[in-house]
Amino acid sequence: MNNGETRPRPAAPPADGLAPERFPHTWRAPGAPRRTVAVGPVTVGGARVVVAAGPCAVEPNGSLAATAERVRAAGAALLRGGAYKPRTSPYDFQGLGEEGLRLLAAAREATGLPVVTEVLDPRDVPAVAAVADLLQIGSRSVQNFPLLREAGQSGRPLLIKRGMMTTLAEWLGAAEYALAAGAPGVILCERGIRTFEAATRNTLDLSAVVLLRRICRWPVLVDPSHASGRAALVPDLAAAAVAAGADGLLVEVHVDPAAAWSDGRQTIDTDTFARLVPRCRAVARAVGREL
Ligand code: PEP
Ligand code: MN
Repeated sequence: MNNGETRPRPAAPPADGLAPERFPHTWRAPGAPRRTVAVGPVTVGGARVVVAAGPCAVEPNGSLAATAERVRAAGAALLRGGAYKPRTSPYDFQGLGEEGLRLLAAAREATGLPVVTEVLDPRDVPAVAAVADLLQIGSRSVQNFPLLREAGQSGRPLLIKRGMMTTLAEWLGAAEYALAAGAPGVILCERGIRTFEAATRNTLDLSAVVLLRRICRWPVLVDPSHASGRAALVPDLAAAAVAAGADGLLVEVHVDPAAAWSDGRQTIDTDTFARLVPRCRAVARAVGREL
């Protein structure tokens, strides 16, 4: 019966915001292929699970070079390290900036590992993109739309970390901004969300990883370091992420975590990393992948 309305109303969007037509660059229809992303010579999203490893922040004391060499030897495919750090307090170490970028370039030269590093400020995109093989958009920047557009135009693929309060629809929206601006590819990185639980820094949302692999065409990584905030939990969470189907890991590793300039509590040492890799490899094989 017509209740006095003369025009048909458009269908209400789904409560979770995941309406496929809103995600032309990211949505994957059932049965459609998934995409891979080239990061330098490394393929992300293929049969091989990739591990990005390195310190939270690039430091001026040789720790980056030493860490890079050891994670490469242990099986890392990419080197991570922040030159521009998003810190909660303006009085904390903000990263080495351009000097950090030079150290990252030198570490890539020495190890051959492609570099993933964060860009925080749209004005820094050209300088960071000149060094980064993969531009990281941090959790706190996931809805910085001018930054996503600028980074999307840099010619580099983007690693977009999930915000600590970001829904999947908002996260995919961020990826749409980058891809609509021309990004050659995006990789999503689950790094834990804020919940009522205080025993861990964040709560690792593996459901998001499993769901994204079904509905999104781009690769998904997991960062067990920021997800837990505790070094002791990182190896098991890394293994769980691979079991859940993650295309790779982003792990904070330092030759001397106790001396790290940031995030030392959640950073594993290089020996622990060297044990984490074969364990994750065994899990990868169990789920039909390589590492
Ligand atoms: C980082 O990767 O060092 C980082 C700052 O992560 P997030 O943006 O996830 O907090
Ligand atoms: Mn960190």
